[in-house]
Amino acid sequence: MENECSECGANLAINQTECAYCGAAQPNADERLLVELMNVKRKAEMAYRRGNKLVLESLLADDYELLEVECEGIEGRVDRKTTVENAGFVDPAFLSYSISDEELLERTPETAKMAFIQTVHRSTDNEHDPYTTRSKTHFVRHEGRWKIAYEHLVMLDKNGQPYKSDAV
Ligand SMILES: [Zn+2]
Repeated sequence: MENECSECGANLAINQTECAYCGAAQPNADERLLVELMNVKRKAEMAYRRGNKLVLESLLADDYELLEVECEGIEGRVDRKTTVENAGFVDPAFLSYSISDEELLERTPETAKMAFIQTVHRSTDNEHDPYTTRSKTHFVRHEGRWKIAYEHLVMLDKNGQPYKSDAV
C-alpha cells in the first residue's frame, strides 16, 4: 500500500512520516498507520475465528503473547503456538466483532503501540454480552509488514470499568 507525498506527489511507504524526496512532513501519517494497524488486528481476529491458521501465523510475531485479565487477579497468558492451535473454535452465537476508540500511543519506524476497545456481539444475552475488552496492543514491523507482538486485554463491565465479579 502506497501513499503520495502531500507536497511533491512522490510515492511513499505507508509508515513514512516525512517524504524521502522533498522532506515534507506527512500530516496524516499517524492516521494512515492507525488504519493499517487496525486492519492487521481485524484480519488476525477473523482468521482466528475462521480457523485460518496460515493467515493468523503470518500476522503474529514469533514471540507473540496475549495476556487477558478476566476480572480481578484472574489472568490468562497465551503464546503464539497455543493461539494458532486454538484458532477455529466455532461460536454459533457470534454476530460481530468491532474496534472503537482507537488511539496510537507510540510509534517508531519498527514498532507501534495502540490502545482500543474491542467488542464482540453474540446472539445470547448473559452478563458478558456484549463481551468488551480494553486492549493495549504492540505491533512490530518485520520485512515490511506489521505484525502483532503483544496484546494486553482487560475485560470491561457495562459501564466501561474493569470487570469485577460479584462473587469476589
Ligand atoms: Zn515530497
